[in-house]
Amino acid sequence: MLQATNAPIIRTDTLKISIDSTLLPSLGEAAVTEAQAEAIPPIMTTEDRVQLLMRAGINKSADWTEAIHYDIRKPNFVVIHHTAQHSINQTIRTFQLQHTKVSAHYVIGKDGRVVQMLNDYLRSWHAGKSKWGNITDMNSVSLGIELDNNGREPFAEAQIQSLLVLLDSLKTKYQIPFTNFIGHADIAPTRKDDPSLFFPWKRLADRGFGVWYDESNLAAPPVTFNEVDALRIIGYDVTNLRAAIIAFKRKFIVTDVSEVLTDYDRRVLFNLYRRYF
Ligand SMILES: [Zn+2]
Repeated sequence: MLQATNAPIIRTDTLKISIDSTLLPSLGEAAVTEAQAEAIPPIMTTEDRVQLLMRAGINKSADWTEAIHYDIRKPNFVVIHHTAQHSINQTIRTFQLQHTKVSAHYVIGKDGRVVQMLNDYLRSWHAGKSKWGNITDMNSVSLGIELDNNGREPFAEAQIQSLLVLLDSLKTKYQIPFTNFIGHADIAPTRKDDPSLFFPWKRLADRGFGVWYDESNLAAPPVTFNEVDALRIIGYDVTNLRAAIIAFKRKFIVTDVSEVLTDYDRRVLFNLYRRYF
C-alpha cells in the first residue's frame, strides 16, 4: 500500500519544457491537432519537435507535481497498406515532402528491403479519418506499414517474407494482439481499398497476424444471427453498411466483392464471429 510520508510537492510553474513558446503560438493545453502539428517547422530535429508537441500535454488548469514512474505509450495495432505508387523511392519522397501530410513507420520494397521512416513511438499520419471498434484515432494507437505495390499486381514474395519477419518482431516487442493486425480498408471502408485483393491475409493469419475462418467448418448461422452486429463487433464501422460489407468481402471472400452477403458469406462471417469475438 502506498503511504504518503510528506505532503505532495505542488509546483505552480507549468513550463516543464524550456522551448521558446513564440515558435508555436497556437499550441494550447488541448491535444495538438494535425493542423497545429503541421505548423511546426519540419527542419527541427525530432527531439525538439517532440518536445514542442509535448507542451500541449500539460494541463494549465491543474497543479503540477511529477510522478516518477512512467514510460512511453506503445503501439497496439498494425495497419497494412499498399502505396499505390510506382516505386519505393517515390513513396519515401512522398513522406518527406512538406505538402503531402502523410507518412508511415515502415516502407517495404518489392525486393524485401525494409525502410523505417519514423520511430515506432511516434504517431505517423497513415490512417487518416478512420474507425475500428470504438477507436476513432487509429494513428494514435497503430504502426503503419506501406508495401510498395501499385494495387494492381501481386505482392512480391520477398516483400511478404520481409513483412512477416517485421510483424513478428513488432508483435513480440509491443505485445500486439493477433486480432490487431488489420488493413487500411478495414478501418476506412468508404475511402480505402488497401491492401489490395492480392494481399495474402490467410497466410498472415496462419502465422498469427490477423484472423481467418475455419474453411472446414462453415456451419450455417442460427436464424437469430445478426450480421450487422457481427460486423460491428469484429470492428467494422457499419455506419455505411454497404462499404463495411464490401471491405469484409474484399478481405475474406476476395472472389466476390459485391455489397450483398450471400449464404456462403454469412457462414464465413458467423465462423469468424464465433471463433474470435
Ligand atoms: Zn493506405
